[in-house]
Amino acid sequence: MNVWLNGHILPLEKAHISPLDRGFLFGDGIYEVVRFFDRTGMAMDAHIQRLERSLQLTHIKGFNARELPALCEQLLQAENLRDACVYLQITRGVAASRAHMPPENIQPTVFAMAHASGALDTLTTAAPISLSVQPDLRWHRCEIKCTSLMGSILPMLDGRHHNAQEAILIRDGFVSEGSSSNIFVVRANNVITPPIDTDPSILHGTMRTLAMDAARKLGLEVSIRPIEEAELATANEIWVTGSGRVLAGCVALNGKVFGGGKPAKMACAVINGMRLAVENLLAKTP
Ligand code: PLP
Repeated sequence: MNVWLNGHILPLEKAHISPLDRGFLFGDGIYEVVRFFDRTGMAMDAHIQRLERSLQLTHIKGFNARELPALCEQLLQAENLRDACVYLQITRGVAASRAHMPPENIQPTVFAMAHASGALDTLTTAAPISLSVQPDLRWHRCEIKCTSLMGSILPMLDGRHHNAQEAILIRDGFVSEGSSSNIFVVRANNVITPPIDTDPSILHGTMRTLAMDAARKLGLEVSIRPIEEAELATANEIWVTGSGRVLAGCVALNGKVFGGGKPAKMACAVINGMRLAVENLLAKTP
C-alpha cells in the first residue's frame, strides 16, 4: 500500500511520523474523507471549503486546501483505484518538546491514504445500519473536523451491546448528529434533519447536502429543524449520511428491529437520486 506523506507518495512501511507529532500527543489535527466514484470526488468543492474552514479555525498553517483534488488524484493513481475513499489528515506538526502551546513556524504533517470502496452501482439501495441512542458528550466546536475523536468513539463503544454500528447523539433532549454521520428522520413525506449552524454546532456534512438535494428532486418536503429524541421511536425512517456509507437506513434501534428490519423505501429512493447526481457529474467530467 502506498500513502502520501508530506508531499511524497511512498510505501506505508516507509512512512514514518515522529512520536513528538502534535497529532499523536494532543490529537491536534484535522481531517477529511472524500468518496470517489470512477476517480471523481463526490462534493469535492464542499470538502475543500470545509477543509479550508477547519484549517482557519484551528490556526493550522502551511497547507492549501485547494491542493486536495490533485493530492487525491496522485494517490488514487499510485494505488490504481477508481472507486475509493481518501482519508487526509493534517496535524499541526512536530515540536521539540511536549508543550501545549505550539511553537511559532511549526510545519504541518500531511498524511493521506486511500482504500477501495464500492462502485457507483452499489448506490441502488441504502445499506442497512443498526443504531443506538447515546448522550452527546463532545465539545462545542463540532463544525471543526478534528482528529480528537474520543467523544465519538465512547458512544460507539457504549452501543456495542446492541450491536450498533453507529450512535445517534443526543444533546439536551435533541438529536445533534451521528458519531460519524449526520442524521435524518422521515415522517410521512417529510424528511427532517437538524440545523448545522447552532451553538454547540454539528459537522457541515457533505452527504447531508447531497441527500437533501436528492430528496427535494423527488418532490419530498425537506425540513431543517431540531429533532426531539422522542421523535426517533415514532419515525417512519431514520437515515445516516456520511462520505463512507453515503446514505444508510436504520434497521435496528437500541437493539430492537426498526422499520421492519429492511432499508426503507425513501432511503432507497434518495440514494438512487444521489447516484443519478454522481452519474450526471461523471458525464460532465472530461
Ligand atoms: N458528522 C460527523 C460527526 C462526522 O464524523 C461525519 C463524517 O465523518 C459526518 C457528520 C458526515 O460528513 P460527510 O457527509 O461530509 O462525510
